Amino acid sequence: MTRYIFITGGVVSSLGKGIASAALGALLQARGYRVRLRKLDPYLNVDPGTMSPYQHGEVYVTDDGAETDLDLGHYERFTGVSARQSDNITTGRVYQTILEKERRGDFLGATIQVIPHVTDAIKDFVLGDPGEVDFVLCEIGGTVGDIEGLPFFEAIRQLGQELGRDRAIFIHLTLLPYIPSAGEMKTKPTQHSVKELRSIGIQPDILLCRCDRPIPEDEKRKIALFCNVRSESVIEARDVSHIYDVPLAYHGEGLDHEVLHHFGMTGAPPPDLSKWQEISDKLKRPDGEVTIALVGKYTVLPDAYKSVMEALHHGGLANDVKVNIELIDSTPLDDPSASLDVLDGVNGIILPGGFGQRGARGKMRAARYARERDIPCFGICFGMQLAVVEAARNLANIQGAGTTEFDEPSDALVGFIEQWTKGNQKEVRSKDGDLGGTMRLGAYPAILTPGSKVAEAYGTTTIEERHRHRYEVNFHYKEQIEASGMLFSGMSPDGLLPEIVELKDHPWFIGVQFHPELKSRPFEPHPLFASFISAAVHQSRLV
Ligand code: GLN
Repeated sequence: MTRYIFITGGVVSSLGKGIASAALGALLQARGYRVRLRKLDPYLNVDPGTMSPYQHGEVYVTDDGAETDLDLGHYERFTGVSARQSDNITTGRVYQTILEKERRGDFLGATIQVIPHVTDAIKDFVLGDPGEVDFVLCEIGGTVGDIEGLPFFEAIRQLGQELGRDRAIFIHLTLLPYIPSAGEMKTKPTQHSVKELRSIGIQPDILLCRCDRPIPEDEKRKIALFCNVRSESVIEARDVSHIYDVPLAYHGEGLDHEVLHHFGMTGAPPPDLSKWQEISDKLKRPDGEVTIALVGKYTVLPDAYKSVMEALHHGGLANDVKVNIELIDSTPLDDPSASLDVLDGVNGIILPGGFGQRGARGKMRAARYARERDIPCFGICFGMQLAVVEAARNLANIQGAGTTEFDEPSDALVGFIEQWTKGNQKEVRSKDGDLGGTMRLGAYPAILTPGSKVAEAYGTTTIEERHRHRYEVNFHYKEQIEASGMLFSGMSPDGLLPEIVELKDHPWFIGVQFHPELKSRPFEPHPLFASFISAAVHQSRLV
């Protein structure tokens, strides 16, 4: 029997609902249960693929090619369960599906309404395609009271009724602010948030209360009384130093126990949290540290680089070091006279993915800086493309090298991909086609050159990694580029699309067309991130 856990949020956004959901998933897994996590996003975009990273943070890509909310990245990192297209839905997608059906005439003359048609579509999504799991955890984006969220709250309310108490539970995440002038922690915002939830028919079973200090027992009793929950179900969710401490912290406060208590599943053996304890200990007692410069243009919103930053920390775990990440805005570095001394002293440079002209030259200057000074450098997607353009111009002497993404270069080292193969199928694109959902998306295999640095890092010559790009390095320049010392060490199986480049005479300079950060997990650091941080550790010992 599959049980459903609905996680909602109140008071303010950014309380960490995604991490709370992921951590609960991990705790249930540690008790031997199988879990699947889903995200219901009330905004109107069909998916976040066309949204600016400034608005939405990173777009997380699944193996099956869905462009999804970054919370799915937390789910994967905490539980190791690969997310799928069917694990993220938005209002836009719900309406798209309904309106397509309406045009086909599938509703047989009915008037299409929010209740029941939209709510039914949401319920179908929640219940559909769960796989063999014991728990489906569904996080509702936004906060209770948001207008766009109403159909989602109504749908989960109905599900609460239909599934019954022994198959559904509601967890509400709120904030207990501490007011210094009063010297008190305030429960009123939580009371109001629960009142709002109850006014739409949802009585939360568990309150997960974010706070920066312990909640006094009296306050817990008060919250329980006013919000109509057991006082054991008022769970303290105090700030912790690292997100990977969250499962241990929430377990300590009894979150997983309360969930199982609700379902009458007590008596189960305690969870095995040894791997979380190990991670927590490693993070607290690193054996050294390295500093990595992350050079990109979305640095004002670090969420734009969420998975890259997490993967760097995983690389740190693999090498027992703390990774300090310096976010460096590439935009001012576009100016050729701007000093690059912000990069002085770093042990590695990472050039993440991106789009468009602004900040691109800054990234190329950072690539050159790393190349000429033997600093470990990792280019990802756009970062790789720009590193190739830089090497083409300054190493291979192809003066007119550039990318057609924002230029009309005489030598299109990076160009629009018009067609490629996916499995047995041919995918075709045109430059004036739709932007949404049309990139080369999801998992594709690549073949690595035996004996190359990447093959050594991966320990194999066949890999599969997730992609999200419209442009591609032009393999017609392979010979010229390779003659200058930059090797094409990974190609698509048909030999047409360069997937990886590496510099021969450099301690560690690798560019990849895909997004390895999306598959890195704390317990299985991605081999390229582990290898990159290892090179950074080596570099730090040389200076
Ligand atoms: N803008 C580049 C492309 O579309 C790179 C995309 C990325 O970095 N994800 O190919």
